[in-house]
Amino acid sequence: MKTLQAVRGMHDILPNDSAAWQWLERLLEKHFTAYGFQEIRTPMVEKTELFTKAVGQSTDVVEKEMYGFRDRNDESLCLRPEGTAGVVRSVLQHGLLNPPGLKTWYRGPMFRYERPQKGRQRQFYQAGAEVFGMPGPMVDAELIAMLNRIWRALEIDQQVTLEINSLGDRDDRLRYRDALQDYLRPLHDQLDADSQRRFETNPLRIFDSKSNSTQAIMANAPLLTDYLGAEAKAHFKQVCALLDQLNISYIINPGLVRGLDYYGRTVFEWKTDLLGAQGTICAGGRYDDLVEMQGGKPTPGIGFALGMERLLELVKNNEREYAAPADAYLVSTLANGEPLQLAEQLRNEWDDLKLIVDLIGGSFKSQFKRADRSGAQWALVLAEDELANGTITVKHMLGQQPQQSIARDELANWLKTARTLEQKPDR
Ligand code: ATP
Ligand code: MG
Repeated sequence: MKTLQAVRGMHDILPNDSAAWQWLERLLEKHFTAYGFQEIRTPMVEKTELFTKAVGQSTDVVEKEMYGFRDRNDESLCLRPEGTAGVVRSVLQHGLLNPPGLKTWYRGPMFRYERPQKGRQRQFYQAGAEVFGMPGPMVDAELIAMLNRIWRALEIDQQVTLEINSLGDRDDRLRYRDALQDYLRPLHDQLDADSQRRFETNPLRIFDSKSNSTQAIMANAPLLTDYLGAEAKAHFKQVCALLDQLNISYIINPGLVRGLDYYGRTVFEWKTDLLGAQGTICAGGRYDDLVEMQGGKPTPGIGFALGMERLLELVKNNEREYAAPADAYLVSTLANGEPLQLAEQLRNEWDDLKLIVDLIGGSFKSQFKRADRSGAQWALVLAEDELANGTITVKHMLGQQPQQSIARDELANWLKTARTLEQKPDR
Protein backbone atom coordinates (compact mmCIF):
# COMPACT_ATOMS: atom_id res chain seq x y z
CA MET A 1 0.00 0.00 0.00
CA LYS A 2 1.26 3.49 -0.81
CA THR A 3 1.85 5.52 2.36
CA LEU A 4 0.31 8.96 2.64
CA GLN A 5 2.38 12.08 2.09
CA ALA A 6 2.23 15.43 3.87
CA VAL A 7 0.19 18.23 2.30
CA ARG A 8 2.05 20.00 -0.52
CA GLY A 9 4.15 22.89 0.79
CA MET A 10 3.96 21.67 4.39
CA HIS A 11 7.04 20.11 5.89
CA ASP A 12 7.96 17.88 8.78
CA ILE A 13 10.69 18.97 11.14
CA LEU A 14 12.39 15.64 11.76
CA PRO A 15 14.14 14.51 14.96
CA ASN A 16 17.55 15.06 13.40
CA ASP A 17 16.69 18.66 12.56
CA SER A 18 14.80 19.70 15.66
CA ALA A 19 17.92 20.44 17.71
CA ALA A 20 18.75 23.28 15.32
CA TRP A 21 15.21 24.64 15.65
CA GLN A 22 15.35 24.44 19.45
CA TRP A 23 18.73 26.12 19.45
CA LEU A 24 17.39 28.99 17.32
CA GLU A 25 14.25 29.32 19.44
CA ARG A 26 16.29 29.43 22.66
CA LEU A 27 18.53 32.11 21.21
CA LEU A 28 15.56 34.21 20.07
CA GLU A 29 13.77 33.79 23.38
CA LYS A 30 16.89 34.84 25.26
CA HIS A 31 17.25 38.04 23.25
CA PHE A 32 13.56 38.98 23.26
CA THR A 33 13.44 38.45 27.02
CA ALA A 34 16.59 40.49 27.55
CA TYR A 35 14.97 43.44 25.75
CA GLY A 36 11.87 43.24 27.94
CA PHE A 37 9.48 41.36 25.64
CA GLN A 38 6.97 38.85 27.03
CA GLU A 39 5.68 36.02 24.89
CA ILE A 40 2.08 35.88 23.67
CA ARG A 41 0.48 32.74 22.20
CA THR A 42 -2.63 33.33 20.14
CA PRO A 43 -4.75 30.70 18.34
CA MET A 44 -3.74 29.52 14.89
CA VAL A 45 -7.32 30.04 13.68
CA GLU A 46 -9.05 33.42 13.63
CA LYS A 47 -12.18 34.83 12.07
CA THR A 48 -11.56 35.60 8.40
CA GLU A 49 -12.72 39.19 8.75
CA LEU A 50 -9.81 39.89 11.11
CA PHE A 51 -7.37 39.49 8.24
CA THR A 52 -9.47 41.09 5.51
CA LYS A 53 -9.77 44.19 7.72
CA ALA A 54 -6.29 44.33 9.24
CA VAL A 55 -4.00 42.98 6.53
CA GLY A 56 -6.02 44.58 3.73
CA GLN A 57 -8.50 43.33 1.15
CA SER A 58 -6.27 44.03 -1.84
CA THR A 59 -3.03 42.51 -0.52
CA ASP A 60 -1.59 39.26 -1.92
CA VAL A 61 -1.98 37.61 1.45
CA VAL A 62 -5.73 38.20 1.60
CA GLU A 63 -6.53 38.07 -2.12
CA LYS A 64 -4.72 34.88 -3.01
CA GLU A 65 -3.02 33.21 -0.09
CA MET A 66 -5.52 32.66 2.71
CA TYR A 67 -6.37 29.20 4.01
CA GLY A 68 -10.01 29.87 4.71
CA PHE A 69 -12.80 27.44 5.53
CA ARG A 70 -16.27 27.33 7.01
CA ASP A 71 -16.67 25.42 10.26
CA ARG A 72 -19.68 23.27 11.15
CA ASN A 73 -21.48 26.36 12.37
CA ASP A 74 -20.93 28.04 8.97
CA GLU A 75 -18.56 30.56 10.48
CA SER A 76 -15.88 31.84 8.08
CA LEU A 77 -12.52 31.06 9.67
CA CYS A 78 -8.95 31.18 8.52
CA LEU A 79 -5.57 29.68 9.38
CA ARG A 80 -3.50 32.70 10.31
CA PRO A 81 -1.29 33.97 7.46
CA GLU A 82 0.67 36.26 9.78
CA GLY A 83 0.96 37.12 13.46
CA THR A 84 0.32 40.82 13.94
CA ALA A 85 -3.45 40.91 13.33
CA GLY A 86 -4.08 38.18 15.92
CA VAL A 87 -1.83 39.84 18.46
CA VAL A 88 -3.68 43.14 18.06
CA ARG A 89 -7.00 41.32 18.36
CA SER A 90 -5.80 39.66 21.54
CA VAL A 91 -4.34 42.70 23.29
CA LEU A 92 -7.56 44.64 22.57
CA GLN A 93 -9.78 41.78 23.70
CA HIS A 94 -7.90 41.53 27.01
CA GLY A 95 -7.42 45.26 27.57
CA LEU A 96 -3.63 44.99 27.60
CA LEU A 97 -3.09 48.47 26.14
CA ASN A 98 -4.37 50.18 29.25
CA PRO A 99 -2.11 51.61 30.68
CA PRO A 100 -0.27 52.00 27.38
CA GLY A 101 3.11 50.43 26.69
CA LEU A 102 3.46 46.74 25.81
CA LYS A 103 6.29 44.70 24.33
CA THR A 104 5.31 41.22 23.28
CA TRP A 105 6.69 38.48 21.02
CA TYR A 106 5.38 35.32 19.40
CA ARG A 107 6.52 32.30 17.46
CA GLY A 108 4.66 29.64 15.56
CA PRO A 109 3.39 28.40 12.23
CA MET A 110 1.76 30.64 9.62
CA PHE A 111 -0.19 29.46 6.58
CA ARG A 112 -0.27 30.92 3.08
CA TYR A 113 -1.50 29.28 -0.07
CA GLU A 114 1.50 30.21 -2.21
CA ARG A 115 3.29 28.29 -4.94
CA PRO A 116 5.71 26.07 -2.98
CA GLN A 117 9.36 26.60 -3.91
CA LYS A 118 12.70 27.11 -2.21
CA GLY A 119 12.14 29.51 0.68
CA ARG A 120 8.38 29.47 0.18
CA GLN A 121 6.17 27.02 2.00
CA ARG A 122 2.47 26.81 2.71
CA GLN A 123 3.11 26.23 6.38
CA PHE A 124 6.14 28.11 7.65
CA TYR A 125 7.31 29.37 11.01
CA GLN A 126 7.73 32.93 12.07
CA ALA A 127 8.99 34.56 15.21
CA GLY A 128 8.07 38.18 15.67
CA ALA A 129 7.66 40.99 18.13
CA GLU A 130 5.16 43.82 18.53
CA VAL A 131 5.46 47.03 20.53
CA PHE A 132 2.42 49.13 21.41
CA GLY A 133 2.07 52.63 22.78
CA MET A 134 5.57 53.89 22.03
CA PRO A 135 5.48 56.55 19.31
CA GLY A 136 9.06 57.83 19.22
CA PRO A 137 11.91 56.81 16.92
CA MET A 138 13.80 55.17 19.80
CA VAL A 139 11.56 52.10 19.58
CA ASP A 140 12.26 51.71 15.86
CA ALA A 141 15.99 51.89 16.56
CA GLU A 142 15.86 49.53 19.55
CA LEU A 143 14.00 46.85 17.56
CA ILE A 144 16.57 47.10 14.80
CA ALA A 145 19.44 47.00 17.32
CA MET A 146 17.98 43.88 18.91
CA LEU A 147 17.70 42.14 15.55
CA ASN A 148 21.23 43.18 14.71
CA ARG A 149 22.42 41.61 17.95
CA ILE A 150 20.54 38.43 17.07
CA TRP A 151 22.27 38.25 13.65
CA ARG A 152 25.62 38.63 15.43
CA ALA A 153 24.75 35.85 17.87
CA LEU A 154 23.76 33.66 14.90
CA GLU A 155 27.02 34.65 13.16
CA ILE A 156 25.20 35.78 10.01
CA ASP A 157 25.61 39.54 10.47
CA GLN A 158 28.10 39.70 7.58
CA GLN A 159 25.64 37.98 5.27
CA VAL A 160 22.60 40.21 5.69
CA THR A 161 21.84 43.80 4.72
CA LEU A 162 19.33 46.11 6.35
CA GLU A 163 17.11 48.16 4.05
CA ILE A 164 14.85 50.85 5.48
CA ASN A 165 12.32 53.31 4.16
CA SER A 166 9.51 55.53 5.39
CA LEU A 167 5.98 55.07 4.09
CA GLY A 168 4.87 58.34 5.67
CA ASP A 169 1.51 58.96 7.30
CA ARG A 170 -1.87 58.10 5.81
CA ASP A 171 -2.41 61.49 4.13
CA ASP A 172 1.09 61.38 2.66
CA ARG A 173 0.34 58.00 1.13
CA LEU A 174 -2.97 59.22 -0.30
CA ARG A 175 -1.27 62.21 -1.97
CA TYR A 176 1.47 59.96 -3.24
CA ARG A 177 -1.01 57.42 -4.54
CA ASP A 178 -2.57 60.10 -6.71
CA ALA A 179 0.82 61.15 -8.03
CA LEU A 180 1.81 57.57 -8.76
CA GLN A 181 -1.44 56.90 -10.61
CA ASP A 182 -0.97 60.11 -12.64
CA TYR A 183 2.48 58.90 -13.63
CA LEU A 184 1.32 55.37 -14.47
CA ARG A 185 -1.93 56.20 -16.29
CA PRO A 186 -0.35 56.80 -19.71
CA LEU A 187 1.81 53.68 -19.24
CA HIS A 188 -1.03 51.47 -18.07
CA ASP A 189 -1.00 49.22 -21.16
CA GLN A 190 2.69 48.40 -20.66
CA LEU A 191 2.24 47.11 -17.10
CA ASP A 192 1.97 43.36 -16.41
CA ALA A 193 -1.52 42.04 -15.72
CA ASP A 194 -1.11 41.90 -11.93
CA SER A 195 0.15 45.47 -11.85
CA GLN A 196 -2.71 46.69 -14.03
CA ARG A 197 -5.08 45.32 -11.42
CA ARG A 198 -3.05 46.88 -8.61
CA PHE A 199 -3.17 50.23 -10.40
CA GLU A 200 -6.66 50.70 -8.96
CA THR A 201 -6.54 48.70 -5.76
CA ASN A 202 -3.03 49.16 -4.40
CA PRO A 203 -0.66 50.98 -6.77
CA LEU A 204 2.22 51.09 -4.24
CA ARG A 205 2.51 47.33 -4.53
CA ILE A 206 3.47 47.70 -8.19
CA PHE A 207 6.98 48.30 -6.82
CA ASP A 208 6.99 44.62 -5.82
CA SER A 209 6.33 43.42 -9.39
CA LYS A 210 8.78 40.82 -10.65
CA SER A 211 8.19 41.77 -14.32
CA ASN A 212 11.25 43.41 -15.91
CA SER A 213 9.29 45.84 -18.06
CA THR A 214 7.18 46.93 -15.09
CA GLN A 215 10.31 47.34 -13.00
CA ALA A 216 11.79 49.54 -15.72
CA ILE A 217 8.68 51.75 -15.60
CA MET A 218 8.81 51.91 -11.81
CA ALA A 219 12.45 52.97 -11.89
CA ASN A 220 11.30 56.40 -13.12
CA ALA A 221 8.21 56.65 -10.94
CA PRO A 222 7.84 59.46 -8.41
CA LEU A 223 9.06 58.42 -4.96
CA LEU A 224 7.04 58.30 -1.78
CA THR A 225 10.05 59.85 -0.06
CA ASP A 226 9.26 63.14 -1.82
CA TYR A 227 5.69 63.14 -0.48
CA LEU A 228 6.41 62.68 3.22
CA GLY A 229 4.88 65.24 5.58
CA ALA A 230 7.06 67.13 8.05
CA GLU A 231 6.37 64.81 10.98
CA ALA A 232 7.02 61.58 9.16
CA LYS A 233 10.15 63.10 7.64
CA ALA A 234 11.47 64.15 11.06
CA HIS A 235 10.69 60.72 12.52
CA PHE A 236 12.60 58.96 9.76
CA LYS A 237 15.56 61.33 10.07
CA GLN A 238 15.75 60.59 13.78
CA VAL A 239 15.59 56.84 13.23
CA CYS A 240 18.50 57.10 10.79
CA ALA A 241 20.47 59.28 13.22
CA LEU A 242 19.94 56.77 16.03
CA LEU A 243 21.10 53.91 13.81
CA ASP A 244 24.20 55.94 12.94
CA GLN A 245 24.92 56.51 16.63
CA LEU A 246 24.53 52.78 17.29
CA ASN A 247 26.90 51.97 14.40
CA ILE A 248 24.24 50.01 12.57
CA SER A 249 24.67 50.11 8.82
CA TYR A 250 21.65 50.34 6.54
CA ILE A 251 20.61 51.21 3.03
CA ILE A 252 17.71 53.55 2.40
CA ASN A 253 15.58 51.89 -0.28
CA PRO A 254 12.83 54.27 -1.46
CA GLY A 255 11.17 51.36 -3.32
CA LEU A 256 10.66 49.30 -0.16
CA VAL A 257 6.86 49.28 0.28
CA ARG A 258 5.98 46.05 2.17
CA GLY A 259 3.03 43.86 1.24
CA LEU A 260 0.55 44.48 4.03
CA ASP A 261 -1.75 47.49 4.19
CA TYR A 262 -1.24 48.39 7.82
CA TYR A 263 2.29 49.73 7.55
CA GLY A 264 3.18 53.43 7.78
CA ARG A 265 6.33 55.43 8.55
CA THR A 266 9.37 53.23 9.22
CA VAL A 267 9.57 49.93 7.32
CA PHE A 268 12.60 47.66 7.17
CA GLU A 269 13.82 44.35 5.74
CA TRP A 270 16.94 42.28 6.11
CA LYS A 271 18.01 40.59 2.92
CA THR A 272 20.71 38.17 1.89
CA ASP A 273 22.17 37.09 -1.45
CA LEU A 274 22.78 33.57 -0.24
CA LEU A 275 19.26 32.14 -0.42
CA GLY A 276 18.38 32.75 -4.06
CA ALA A 277 15.15 34.48 -5.01
CA GLN A 278 13.57 34.39 -1.52
CA GLY A 279 16.25 36.41 0.22
CA THR A 280 14.29 38.35 2.84
CA ILE A 281 14.77 36.82 6.28
CA CYS A 282 13.07 39.46 8.40
CA ALA A 283 10.66 42.29 7.72
CA GLY A 284 8.67 44.77 9.70
CA GLY A 285 7.65 48.31 10.37
CA ARG A 286 5.34 50.76 12.07
CA TYR A 287 1.58 50.35 12.03
CA ASP A 288 0.36 53.39 13.94
CA ASP A 289 -3.20 53.14 12.53
CA LEU A 290 -3.78 49.42 13.00
CA VAL A 291 -5.03 49.38 16.59
CA GLU A 292 -7.57 52.10 15.81
CA MET A 293 -8.60 50.29 12.60
CA GLN A 294 -9.40 47.26 14.76
CA GLY A 295 -11.56 49.27 17.11
CA GLY A 296 -9.09 50.28 19.80
CA LYS A 297 -8.03 53.73 20.96
CA PRO A 298 -5.41 55.26 18.65
CA THR A 299 -2.19 53.52 19.74
CA PRO A 300 1.09 53.52 17.86
CA GLY A 301 2.56 50.12 17.05
CA ILE A 302 5.64 48.64 15.48
CA GLY A 303 6.79 45.08 14.88
CA PHE A 304 8.58 42.60 12.71
CA ALA A 305 8.45 38.95 11.71
CA LEU A 306 11.34 36.73 10.77
CA GLY A 307 11.08 33.60 8.67
CA MET A 308 12.59 30.77 10.66
CA GLU A 309 13.14 28.34 7.76
CA ARG A 310 15.05 30.93 5.75
CA LEU A 311 17.01 31.97 8.83
CA LEU A 312 18.00 28.38 9.63
CA GLU A 313 19.00 27.80 6.01
CA LEU A 314 21.39 30.73 6.32
CA VAL A 315 22.65 29.73 9.76
CA LYS A 316 23.40 26.22 8.51
CA ASN A 317 26.11 27.59 6.23
CA ASN A 318 28.25 27.62 9.38
CA GLU A 319 29.19 24.24 10.84
CA ARG A 320 27.84 23.98 14.34
CA GLU A 321 26.82 21.34 16.94
CA TYR A 322 23.22 22.11 17.89
CA ALA A 323 22.83 19.56 20.66
CA ALA A 324 25.27 17.75 22.94
CA PRO A 325 25.20 13.97 22.46
CA ALA A 326 24.35 11.69 25.39
CA ASP A 327 26.77 11.33 28.28
CA ALA A 328 26.18 7.65 28.77
CA TYR A 329 24.52 4.68 27.08
CA LEU A 330 23.47 1.80 29.29
CA VAL A 331 23.81 -1.68 27.84
CA SER A 332 22.64 -4.76 29.68
CA THR A 333 21.66 -8.31 28.91
CA LEU A 334 19.60 -8.56 32.08
CA ALA A 335 15.97 -8.83 31.15
CA ASN A 336 14.68 -7.81 34.58
CA GLY A 337 14.13 -4.45 36.29
CA GLU A 338 17.83 -3.96 37.07
CA PRO A 339 18.85 -1.72 34.11
CA LEU A 340 15.96 0.69 34.68
CA GLN A 341 16.61 0.74 38.43
CA LEU A 342 20.24 1.62 37.83
CA ALA A 343 19.25 4.34 35.33
CA GLU A 344 16.75 5.88 37.74
CA GLN A 345 19.34 5.76 40.56
CA LEU A 346 21.84 7.66 38.40
CA ARG A 347 19.20 10.20 37.36
CA ASN A 348 18.27 10.74 41.03
CA GLU A 349 21.89 11.39 41.88
CA TRP A 350 22.62 13.64 38.90
CA ASP A 351 19.63 15.29 37.29
CA ASP A 352 21.73 16.83 34.52
CA LEU A 353 22.84 13.44 33.25
CA LYS A 354 21.91 12.65 29.67
CA LEU A 355 21.52 8.89 29.75
CA ILE A 356 20.10 6.54 27.14
CA VAL A 357 19.07 3.05 28.20
CA ASP A 358 19.19 0.47 25.42
CA LEU A 359 15.57 -0.66 25.18
CA ILE A 360 15.93 -2.71 22.04
CA GLY A 361 18.07 -5.43 23.61
CA GLY A 362 19.77 -8.29 21.79
CA SER A 363 23.48 -9.17 21.93
CA PHE A 364 26.11 -6.95 23.56
CA LYS A 365 27.56 -6.49 20.11
CA SER A 366 24.42 -4.97 18.66
CA GLN A 367 23.89 -2.84 21.79
CA PHE A 368 27.45 -1.49 21.59
CA LYS A 369 26.87 -0.60 17.97
CA ARG A 370 23.93 1.55 19.02
CA ALA A 371 25.94 3.01 21.91
CA ASP A 372 28.56 4.02 19.37
CA ARG A 373 26.02 5.58 17.01
CA SER A 374 24.48 7.58 19.87
CA GLY A 375 27.71 9.56 20.23
CA ALA A 376 27.71 8.91 23.99
CA GLN A 377 30.96 9.40 25.86
CA TRP A 378 30.60 6.23 27.93
CA ALA A 379 28.92 2.88 27.65
CA LEU A 380 27.81 1.59 31.05
CA VAL A 381 27.70 -2.18 31.22
CA LEU A 382 25.47 -4.05 33.64
CA ALA A 383 25.58 -7.87 33.49
CA GLU A 384 25.48 -10.73 36.03
CA ASP A 385 29.06 -10.11 37.24
CA GLU A 386 28.51 -6.41 37.83
CA LEU A 387 25.25 -7.14 39.63
CA ALA A 388 26.99 -9.63 41.95
CA ASN A 389 29.89 -7.22 42.70
CA GLY A 390 27.88 -4.02 43.05
CA THR A 391 29.93 -2.43 40.27
CA ILE A 392 29.41 -1.07 36.77
CA THR A 393 31.85 -1.46 33.90
CA VAL A 394 32.53 1.82 32.13
CA LYS A 395 33.74 1.73 28.54
CA HIS A 396 35.19 4.91 27.06
CA MET A 397 33.58 5.31 23.67
CA LEU A 398 35.46 8.37 22.46
CA GLY A 399 39.06 7.84 23.64
CA GLN A 400 41.46 4.91 23.89
CA GLN A 401 41.40 4.52 27.70
CA PRO A 402 40.94 0.97 28.99
CA GLN A 403 37.58 0.14 30.52
CA GLN A 404 37.13 0.66 34.24
CA SER A 405 35.12 -0.91 36.98
CA ILE A 406 33.37 1.62 39.24
CA ALA A 407 31.41 0.96 42.42
CA ARG A 408 27.75 1.46 41.66
CA ASP A 409 27.21 3.93 44.51
CA GLU A 410 30.07 6.11 43.31
CA LEU A 411 29.19 5.97 39.65
CA ALA A 412 27.16 9.20 39.41
CA ASN A 413 29.92 11.22 41.07
CA TRP A 414 32.55 9.52 38.97
CA LEU A 415 30.69 10.40 35.76
CA LYS A 416 30.18 13.97 36.88
CA THR A 417 33.88 14.47 37.59
CA ALA A 418 34.96 12.66 34.46
CA ARG A 419 32.67 14.79 32.28
CA THR A 420 34.18 17.98 33.68
CA LEU A 421 37.73 16.64 33.25
CA GLU A 422 37.28 15.22 29.79
CA GLN A 423 35.24 18.24 28.59
CA LYS A 424 33.97 17.42 25.18
CA PRO A 425 34.58 20.25 22.69
CA ASP A 426 30.91 21.17 22.33
CA ARG A 427 30.39 21.74 26.04
P1 ATP B 1 7.91 37.69 0.46
O1 ATP B 1 8.18 38.97 -0.26
O2 ATP B 1 9.12 36.79 0.57
O3 ATP B 1 6.68 36.98 -0.01
P2 ATP B 1 6.34 38.75 2.59
O4 ATP B 1 6.39 40.22 2.51
O5 ATP B 1 5.13 38.02 2.11
O6 ATP B 1 7.65 38.10 1.96
P3 ATP B 1 6.16 38.86 5.44
O7 ATP B 1 4.70 38.75 5.49
O8 ATP B 1 6.80 40.15 5.71
O9 ATP B 1 6.67 38.27 4.06
O10 ATP B 1 6.79 37.74 6.40
C1 ATP B 1 8.02 37.94 7.10
C2 ATP B 1 9.01 36.86 6.76
O11 ATP B 1 8.41 35.57 6.80
C3 ATP B 1 9.56 36.93 5.36
O12 ATP B 1 10.60 37.85 5.29
C4 ATP B 1 10.05 35.53 5.14
O13 ATP B 1 11.32 35.33 5.77
C5 ATP B 1 9.04 34.71 5.86
N1 ATP B 1 8.05 34.17 4.92
C6 ATP B 1 6.99 34.81 4.36
N2 ATP B 1 6.29 33.99 3.56
C7 ATP B 1 6.90 32.78 3.62
C8 ATP B 1 6.67 31.50 3.03
N3 ATP B 1 5.62 31.30 2.23
N4 ATP B 1 7.52 30.48 3.31
C9 ATP B 1 8.58 30.67 4.12
N5 ATP B 1 8.86 31.85 4.72
C10 ATP B 1 8.04 32.89 4.48
MG1 MG C 1 4.63 36.94 0.40
